[in-house]
Amino acid sequence: MIYLDYAATTPLHPRALNAMLPYFQETFGNPSSAHRFGQKAEAALEKARETVAAVLHCHPDEIIFTSCGSESDNLALRGAGLARRKTAGAAQILTAKTEHHAVSRTAEQMEKEYGFKVRWLEVDQTGAVQPAAFQGALTSSAALASVMYANNEIGTINPIWELADFARSQNVVFHTDAVQAAAYLDINVQTLGVDLMSLGGHKFYGPKGVGALYVRKGTALIPHQTGGGQEFGLRAGTQNVPYIVGFAEALRLAFEEREARTARVKPLRDRIIGQVLETISDSQLTGHPQNRLPNHASFVFKDADGNFLLQLLDAAGFACSSGSACKTGNPEPSEALLELGYSRDWALGSLRVTLGMDSSPEDVEAFLKTLPSLVEKARKVNRK
Ligand SMILES: *Cc1c(COP(=O)(O)O)cnc(C)c1O
Repeated sequence: MIYLDYAATTPLHPRALNAMLPYFQETFGNPSSAHRFGQKAEAALEKARETVAAVLHCHPDEIIFTSCGSESDNLALRGAGLARRKTAGAAQILTAKTEHHAVSRTAEQMEKEYGFKVRWLEVDQTGAVQPAAFQGALTSSAALASVMYANNEIGTINPIWELADFARSQNVVFHTDAVQAAAYLDINVQTLGVDLMSLGGHKFYGPKGVGALYVRKGTALIPHQTGGGQEFGLRAGTQNVPYIVGFAEALRLAFEEREARTARVKPLRDRIIGQVLETISDSQLTGHPQNRLPNHASFVFKDADGNFLLQLLDAAGFACSSGSACKTGNPEPSEALLELGYSRDWALGSLRVTLGMDSSPEDVEAFLKTLPSLVEKARKVNRK
């Protein structure tokens, strides 16, 4: 079986696993306890916070550990939205339909249940938010703006620095979902200029079930999980020390090895894109042709049944995705692809191929040899 779905999740890095192991049994204390058991756990927690802060170029007390990337997105939107409405009376949220559901569904809920107003940003054909469109949509009545760094379905990278810079000039809080970006892109929050940034461990070879939110000093948040005073009062609950240690170690490695990892996957990605477009008729690359994640290739095949194609690929020994792990089995086309302007007959035939540390040129050649006939099969079922 060949795994080509690293955007859905990555395996745990062996060094992250090793770093985690002592904190399940030997050093099991509650970091909030005053005794030495607690102090040792707290030391590990604060060391992890410093490691994450060093990669992000921020202060350790600007890092809030959460349970996943989705929770970080929820805390950012609801937390900053509620705080900004309270202090500034601003009740508009600016975001795009191409965002991960952790952002777009949260924004929808804030509109439906909390009385916010969502302004959906336009994206271009590659799925990018253009600075001019952003500037036209952003007004001082916005509580916050949320634009993802790199798109999980189509790989497109957004011009975060420019968007954040403009948001700051208008005094609007800017959040970016960097969950997919963190494995390959620079996540220095000073150069990006963001106020809030979400990360999730399992997209960069850390464990599942742990994430972080960067909160720039001075950015007010109303906590959405109340209780103890953990995480500077912003996220109650005893910290998951082993997972946080694994998260920090995996992020540190991703940072150190970023260039080497990129240099390995990018030629393989380009080989896939080139060959697929050349050998399969009625195929298109989705997302930006250059400005995309180095491990990410995504396509649409006209009149093909994308879900059936995934089953055929699985039976042939290849694990791929239609775009988002959250939508598996859903017969509706992806909202993001419709937003980009693809009609249903194209959007239903989507395929995402994402590479990672274990991907080899041999894997890629085997995949490219198999794919064309399977796309043909997935087209035939649709013609019946
Ligand atoms: C995976 C992903 C999420 C959700 O992260 P979890 O840790 O799985 O909750 C959010 N945003 C993007 C862009 C993602 O790729």
